[in-house]
Amino acid sequence: MSTYDQVEIEDMMFDTSTQTFSYPCPCGDKFQIYIDDMFDGENIAVCPSCSLMIEVIFEKEDLQEYYEEAGSQPPEPIAVAA
Ligand SMILES: [Zn+2]
Repeated sequence: MSTYDQVEIEDMMFDTSTQTFSYPCPCGDKFQIYIDDMFDGENIAVCPSCSLMIEVIFEKEDLQEYYEEAGSQPPEPIAVAA
């Protein structure tokens, strides 16, 4: 299983209403990954149209600000490494 590309979380679009990160796919659709799945350790975003995949580069602590932006809470408190 290989991924099409690696993308930093900062370069992805975050939709606060669906709490989903997305990134443009070469096919015209978007790679998508749900923030709660990332919290659970998932880092592969899939395009629903062509099934290409990208690897999202992020630290779990990075998710905190996006949860706040969406006005929600992570499933459990994020322990920030000192
Ligand atoms: Zn695609």
